[in-house]
Amino acid sequence: MSSASQSANNKEKNPDYQSVNQQVFPSTARRGSNCGELKLQGIKASTLAATYGTPLYIVDEPEVRERARKMREVFESEAERIGTTASVYYASKALLNIAVAQWITEEGLSIDVATGGELQVALAAGVDPARIGLHGNNKSVAEIERAVEAGVGTIVIDSEQEIDRVAEAAKAAGVRQKVRLRVNSGVHASTHDYLATSHEDQKFGLPLKRAPEIVKAMRNHKSLEFIGLHCHIGSQIFATEGFEESARRLLSIYGELAEGGAIAELNLGGGYGIAYTSDEASQVPDIAEVARDITDSVAKACAEFKIPIPKLAFEPGRSITGPAGITLYEVGTTKKVELAGSDSAEESIEESFDTRLYVSVDGGMSDNARPALYGAQYEARLANRRSEAAPALARVVGKHCESGDIVVDRGLLPADICPGDLVAVAATGAYCWSLSSNYNYLPRPPMVAVKDGVSRLIVRGQREEELIAQSITDAETINHTSAD
Ligand code: PLP
Repeated sequence: MSSASQSANNKEKNPDYQSVNQQVFPSTARRGSNCGELKLQGIKASTLAATYGTPLYIVDEPEVRERARKMREVFESEAERIGTTASVYYASKALLNIAVAQWITEEGLSIDVATGGELQVALAAGVDPARIGLHGNNKSVAEIERAVEAGVGTIVIDSEQEIDRVAEAAKAAGVRQKVRLRVNSGVHASTHDYLATSHEDQKFGLPLKRAPEIVKAMRNHKSLEFIGLHCHIGSQIFATEGFEESARRLLSIYGELAEGGAIAELNLGGGYGIAYTSDEASQVPDIAEVARDITDSVAKACAEFKIPIPKLAFEPGRSITGPAGITLYEVGTTKKVELAGSDSAEESIEESFDTRLYVSVDGGMSDNARPALYGAQYEARLANRRSEAAPALARVVGKHCESGDIVVDRGLLPADICPGDLVAVAATGAYCWSLSSNYNYLPRPPMVAVKDGVSRLIVRGQREEELIAQSITDAETINHTSAD
């Protein structure tokens, strides 16, 4: 086939390659009627790029609020349906800054933090300490003390050593600290499947079978109040069976644990999946269904084990902020390379193309580490215009000195995309800014919130000078040699 007819054919076969799918992009994202420019909350991508520069993280504030509110409402109402209550903690590791912490708590959620730094941000945002939960497999004594003194609502104990550490801190502060015990239920979930028996060879939590003995040790401390088990089975999960099986396993020992004292609560963690690409959109279950299935399985297990239904707690992160964020980049260079041809028997998009277009943007693995870390897939769109050109098989890459510096591994972009164009990458609201780095001395980009046609800087971007100022040449020397 000639390349002209192949292009025409590809355009016909992929009519949606420039469409903005609101199940992947924020729900207010759309193309304007004039030149088809991408708009978010009514603001043009080019206006945001001109105002704040690129790369730029953009967060749709109403979308974050709506997702947080819905999450709380569905879990609360499903818990009420089975005769209990539910608390929803936002897993702030997904994305945390003062503005986000305020939006989330204004919508009635509590907040999970995993380090002293995250705790400080939540406190700086004015979050009621009683609504903060502290996690982490290796919290320092100083972090534990700071959390207890601040009056955090709960601390998740993740190792035997932490029992004494938290008990001491609580005793010193003169408080009775509510604690949960993190366990491994042996269920490990990936996106679509779960393994009923997974190995416990991982750093988080303690084996479920050891819970009775460890809870007993916790109850020996007057300064600790054990409130229940905690388990997080994984992230980016679409199927609910793993959560259901995990809840059942945890509840199977609640009868035994209750012999030593009441158990108020069960915390089932987070992990609800989102669509990173249009192909995934149809697989993401409605969160109301997820909440119904999980609460149903809790009610069923409690009936089976003849125990009262405990209060429930959940910790979603990605599903609240992930789809509400995009990253905007500027294209610097483009390069067309011939495709080597694939030996794979699987049908792939490469089959319809002879070439791949490399589109280099002004960020990369320093502002989004997920493709390099996990092989994560994303969806990109030409943002400053709609094009009449045929689709090209494109790979959006960053500017770092790594061939694995990929932003979007494969997707379709207009063949006429060129330097100066803007590219928007969807669903970057979670685990992108949080995992960002200064690799190659790239300053972290700023983050801007958009709402009803108005933008507001919520995280200042770094400047090169700040990074360079970390190198010092005039520090005092310290002599460590000694006579013996
Ligand atoms: N809770 C715990 C203990 C976690 O480790 C995580 C993520 O790693 C979460 C909640 C949030 O997971 P997600 O963002 O996938 O909902």
